[in-house]
Amino acid sequence: MDLSIVIPLIDEAESLPELTAWIGKVMNENHYSYEIIYVDDGSSDNSWEVIEQLRSKNPNIKGIKFQRNYGKSAGLNEGFRAATGDVVITMDADLQDSPDEIPELRRMILEDGFDMVSGWKKKRHDNTFTKNIPSKFFNAVTRTMSGIKLHDFNCGLKAYKSRTVKGIEVYGEMHRYIPVLAKWSGFKKIGEKVVEHRARKYGKSKFGLRRFINGFLDLLSISFVGRFSKRPMHFFGLWGTIFFMIGLGIAIYLVISKIIDSNFTLTNKPGFYLALTSLVIGMQLFLAGFIGELVSRNSPFRNTYLVEKKTGL
Ligand code: UDP
Ligand code: MG
Repeated sequence: MDLSIVIPLIDEAESLPELTAWIGKVMNENHYSYEIIYVDDGSSDNSWEVIEQLRSKNPNIKGIKFQRNYGKSAGLNEGFRAATGDVVITMDADLQDSPDEIPELRRMILEDGFDMVSGWKKKRHDNTFTKNIPSKFFNAVTRTMSGIKLHDFNCGLKAYKSRTVKGIEVYGEMHRYIPVLAKWSGFKKIGEKVVEHRARKYGKSKFGLRRFINGFLDLLSISFVGRFSKRPMHFFGLWGTIFFMIGLGIAIYLVISKIIDSNFTLTNKPGFYLALTSLVIGMQLFLAGFIGELVSRNSPFRNTYLVEKKTGL
């Protein structure tokens, strides 16, 4: 199959018929074999009925309905597991992303050899203050921390090699960081394409300002997990040892001072408190590292690798 189009949605019933028709038109014009995988993330409107109706007219449409709302990441992840196309496209259901971009995205994956291509909503049609400005900041931070040169990490419209989506797991609210997840899994050829963005036609946005707080925390944890989840002691052990040594050094100095001069009072010296806190912090960090090692040792993912190629086997 040429294309799988994965579309996570919640309460987007009005948009679905129009979106389906538009995708269908692009697919037929380009003679692609395709599937549209709608993942209904616990809608409370009649989105699911609409999906079933659309399917009765077009067998390329497939649907998955969650028991409740699990979030966009879960929707994408489930869609990725089900996708069978050589190229996988993701897009939002709200008609803000244009299916006309699909052929060029697909070409970039197949001919330019990208593992994934992210859309860039260069001209955004969203609220300036709640979205556009915070999003510029968010993208700048993510760019610096991840070292991936993208302008728009969280664009819903993206294209992937099949291998890429099968090799990553989108959990929590990590859909904002799929390029980072991909990079950590070794899919380093990440491209960008300026895409047309439109104003929301029906319904309303499902994400509020909170996205930026959660998004930032997720960025911290993803950078950390990517680097240290399989070797937590290398982080915590190092800092734990440094703190412990500083504390121990000061403590030894204080004890020696006391031995030399019995009038020396320990408890009114700043060093005394510094030594105490450093020793405690050092011990805490060291223990965190040790527990981290035990957790990662028991993790079912401790020995999962992505094999790129084999020869003679
Ligand atoms: N969405 C989802 N689950 C959620 C929130 C959103 O599947 O918990 C879908 C939503 O229906 C849409 C896409 O994710 O298809 C992007 O959401 P939205 O358009 O509200 O985000 P925005 O464009 O405002 O960033
Ligand atoms: Mg939207």
